[in-house]
Amino acid sequence: MGIDGAYGYRLVRVGQPLERVELPSLETGPEDVVVEVAGCGICHTDVGFAVDGVPTRKALPLVLGHEISGRVVAAGGNAGSWLGRTVIVPAVIPCGGCPACQAGRPTICRNQFMPGNDGDGGFATHVRVPSRHLCPVPEPLPPGLATELLSVIADAVTTPWEAIRRAGVSPDDVAIFIGVGGVGGFGVQIAAALGAAVVAIDIDSGKLELAAQHGAGLTLNSSSMNEKDLKAAVRNFAKQSGRRGIGLKIFETSGTPAGQQIAFGLLDFGGYLAVVGFTPRKVELRLSNLMALDATARGNWGCPPDQYPAALDFVVQGRVAIAPYVELRPLEDAPAVFDAVARHATTRRVILKPVLNNNQEKP
Ligand SMILES: [Zn+2]
Ligand SMILES: [Zn+2]
Repeated sequence: MGIDGAYGYRLVRVGQPLERVELPSLETGPEDVVVEVAGCGICHTDVGFAVDGVPTRKALPLVLGHEISGRVVAAGGNAGSWLGRTVIVPAVIPCGGCPACQAGRPTICRNQFMPGNDGDGGFATHVRVPSRHLCPVPEPLPPGLATELLSVIADAVTTPWEAIRRAGVSPDDVAIFIGVGGVGGFGVQIAAALGAAVVAIDIDSGKLELAAQHGAGLTLNSSSMNEKDLKAAVRNFAKQSGRRGIGLKIFETSGTPAGQQIAFGLLDFGGYLAVVGFTPRKVELRLSNLMALDATARGNWGCPPDQYPAALDFVVQGRVAIAPYVELRPLEDAPAVFDAVARHATTRRVILKPVLNNNQEKP
């Protein structure tokens, strides 16, 4: 069974606007599904492909987009149970059989499928993906939560989720997020929901205000503070918080060299640094601080699909709010919106939403 009439916006050449393309009939292999896209978030990784020339694993032209939620409208022979289900498509879909997957490290699976990188992605009306590891969405959703909003769970929520899980954040901890936009703003909420005392650091006062409303006990504007002042403010907050955990849990979610410098500089005895944001640029660090402080630094490439249901549950329960952190735009605006994201002219995470046609049953 194939799906006809689908279209999307693809990257043809680095540095050029996305182009609309009619997709050929989407046929499903036995293990595949076709998802009618409800929403697809725009990530800075997409900008990396389109503007910075980071190579996609499948050669261009390619429809980008890896933060996808929607409804399964076609399914291969072995995936029939998914038909009609609302799902979140994991940004990284591991193979399940390779040595990394078998060793419990699915995020570094070399046979992984990432929509918008290994094949056409979600800046489209429909996308074909493997059915393994899809995350089912409970229905009906609570008021105020729509399927398209859940798209950002596929990366902006689950990537900090996994970093927080690996760091073992508990109610005894002080957690610090450097950069509290799309990714860090969700990290603040998750850490606060887990009981940690949370510090938000950013250069944007609007983002800091939002963080203060959604879980941050202390907000610091690093554009008007030097490293020494930041350290003193964090130390004071940690003392006041009464938390007894050994070492700060620091999350670099800005993906900027300046943010990475601040994050590394905040490490204390037994501290933990999670590298969540990405920048191709370099920073100069005294790496021996890790040794002298008996500290830990760790990165994570996305999140194992088996963590998605728990992260989704936090959102459904209202412990993590998505709506204040995102902005919905019609799929047709993809080229212009994408350009705005690349120029950092948007303040919220943008979700592209295909315009509905009549034969779709929607409330
Ligand atoms: Zn991403
Ligand atoms: Zn694998």
